[in-house]
Amino acid sequence: MISKNNKYEATAAIARGSSEPLTFEKITLQPLREDEVLIKIVASGLCHTDFVCMQQILPVPMPIVLGHEGAGVIVETGRAVKGLSPGDHVVLSFNSCGECPSCEHELPSYCYNFMANNFSGGRSDGSGTMEQNGEQVNANFFGQSSFATMAIANVRNTVKVSKDLPLEMLAPLGCGIQTGAGTVLNSLSVTDANSIAIFGGGAVGLSALMAAKLVGASPILVIEPFHHRRVLALELGADYVIDPFSVENIVEEIKNIVGGVDFSLEMTGFPEVVKQCIDILKPLGTCALVGAAPADAEVNINIMEMLSTGKKIVGIVEGDSDPKVFIPQLIKYYNEGRFPFNRLIDYFPFNALNEAVKAQVSGQSIKPVVHMEYLL
Ligand SMILES: [Zn+2]
Ligand SMILES: [Zn+2]
Repeated sequence: MISKNNKYEATAAIARGSSEPLTFEKITLQPLREDEVLIKIVASGLCHTDFVCMQQILPVPMPIVLGHEGAGVIVETGRAVKGLSPGDHVVLSFNSCGECPSCEHELPSYCYNFMANNFSGGRSDGSGTMEQNGEQVNANFFGQSSFATMAIANVRNTVKVSKDLPLEMLAPLGCGIQTGAGTVLNSLSVTDANSIAIFGGGAVGLSALMAAKLVGASPILVIEPFHHRRVLALELGADYVIDPFSVENIVEEIKNIVGGVDFSLEMTGFPEVVKQCIDILKPLGTCALVGAAPADAEVNINIMEMLSTGKKIVGIVEGDSDPKVFIPQLIKYYNEGRFPFNRLIDYFPFNALNEAVKAQVSGQSIKPVVHMEYLL
């Protein structure tokens, strides 16, 4: 962190295209706006959405600084920022406009201006937060771009957290973990009277599992092809784990074991899995679509089956979370020993970010977190 011409310099990992590794380059932070916060990033989680943007499956302007599970320490605050001060520990989450009907109803993950505030490569007005050699670098991804040693975030997506827990552990609360837990606790209001099947035992799925266990849901099933994830799912409280490739018909298998479920969570984005999620529901059950899918992915449903059983399908973003409320709540559950999300994390040094991406894509690592101060 060097101050030069009243601007801060930092190192950022820049994504330039699907076949190229991220490169570590010097960038300069733009001056803060009055509702913004400058943060020294301590660590950042790596989320599946970072990867789909690197691959341009979800298009973002290139080259770009990605990263949207940042955690760090506030360096400066804009003039209009209240409730945040230099030195505060913060976790960064998704950004939102604060003015549309969804934001006014405290459901900012359905912000009418979500794309402009999170995926445009700049602020919603098109201006940038990072530059290189005098030219704007696409950044402000999810209102942060946390694959950098410093970042500018908005007061709306900056959540103050206690200094009692390490920031590198708290980083992934900003997206993946809150998405899984929020789906169960906020969106579906699962209770101890409900059964639940979770398709996909990655960071989002296992966070949903921990939340389902927390409220006493039973039985809990996790459908996941990787052996080590199934083992962890059992340790975290799943009643049944199934390798979907080891059985001939996953729907029949689940019906044989538990009859059917009240809730099914689709974390994979595969249309055939969506169909399975609908087929295993009991009457009046709900299928939650959580996993990102290609933009043209569609699924056929039988109208009369849906109508006659009262089944529901609902799309969910970020677990319907209001991060300023929900992230402190998840930390409280962790402190009570009821939400051990730290068990999902593997730490990497920042300059091994490309290796962290590979570990996530191969399924080896469930939630990689890069630590900015920890060097190879
Ligand atoms: Zn909004
Ligand atoms: Zn994410």
